[in-house]
Amino acid sequence: MPVPSHADVVVLARRPGPSILPGDLAVERRRVRPPGPGEVVVQNVVTSVDPYQLRMLRGSREVAQVDVGDPVPANSVGIVVQSADPGVPAGTQVTTYTGWQAYATTTIGPAEVADPELGGPADWLSVLGPAGITAYVGVHDVGRLRSGEAMLISAATGGVGGVAVQLAKAAGARVIAVAGGRQRIAHAVQVLGADTGLDYRDPAFPDQLREAAGDGIDIYFDNVGGRQLTLALSVLRNFGRAVLCGSVSSYARPDDPAGGADLTEAVFRRITLRGFIVSDYYPARRQPIRAELGAQLSAGKIRAVVTEFPGLDSAPKALATLFDRGGSQLGKRIVRITDG
Ligand code: NAP
Repeated sequence: MPVPSHADVVVLARRPGPSILPGDLAVERRRVRPPGPGEVVVQNVVTSVDPYQLRMLRGSREVAQVDVGDPVPANSVGIVVQSADPGVPAGTQVTTYTGWQAYATTTIGPAEVADPELGGPADWLSVLGPAGITAYVGVHDVGRLRSGEAMLISAATGGVGGVAVQLAKAAGARVIAVAGGRQRIAHAVQVLGADTGLDYRDPAFPDQLREAAGDGIDIYFDNVGGRQLTLALSVLRNFGRAVLCGSVSSYARPDDPAGGADLTEAVFRRITLRGFIVSDYYPARRQPIRAELGAQLSAGKIRAVVTEFPGLDSAPKALATLFDRGGSQLGKRIVRITDG
């Protein structure tokens, strides 16, 4: 397949403020470097938008640094179109960390070959990708969910939360899903299989949560932090567990004093709070978890829910929607670069 000499790349043009604005990111045409020995050229088909990217673009210390002018880092799934690696021929589907670019020259490790029998590009960015693996690690490796337990999940209709709901149901839990707005909670119950869906924006949410919790929640899968974490702690059983996956409510405004959670209830209820970063689990767990998620996906036990944004130039807008409360985009948000 012919490889163009230049291709589109989305780069950081200036550091964003609390939210992504037009002009923070720019699409540029950059040279596609021919592959050196052991390298390949990948045509990226889809690329990911994720909440951590906002922190990265803003220069937050705890994530990898991106400088002005750099391509935006991201997981992407594509097809090898030119190869100088005999082990990875042209036509191989691969999942790489090559960012928001239409073509990338890179090496391919064994864990980056994306078996098309398990799924297509969108599956490899959602259920089989970091979102699905994060959900699995949070529910099982960290949460140690047991059949019959009650699990509360926030941002339950997003990329991570949507898979977590399905995995928790498949493991025999009672699941209370929290999301923004009627459409999202209907999706959580009717499509993802949650037992109860609650809208955190409803003024009666604290009462509804207490009622839905009944005699207590065993595990809280926290994607949001802030007020929702405070409320969740108040409905956990004594010696319950909180799995701290992310705190998206604070990403746009990390210095907002109203954004912090009150942990007082964790003391009185003797709660174990445990944060995790999915990449710590990659060396030992990525492949077995992918195999299990792939088997569940093929068997129809879980489904990949994806909202696609067309064209690389839609990536900044797609990223910005992650910080909307109660937006219309369900599941994992991805950008389709090409129909390939
Ligand atoms: P997502 O859930 O698909 O999208 C973010 C969702 O968060 C939004 O759709 C919105 O849902 C909710 N939200 C945004 N701003 C909010 C606010 N101010 N208050 C309350 N809810 C808000 O995103 P994702 O990629 O799956 O990520 C979910 C979480 O997992 C994030 O915290 C992310 O950082 C974390 N994560 C952690 C790891 C790890 O290794 N620990 C790996 C991947 C992701 P509603 O419309 O329902 O409000």
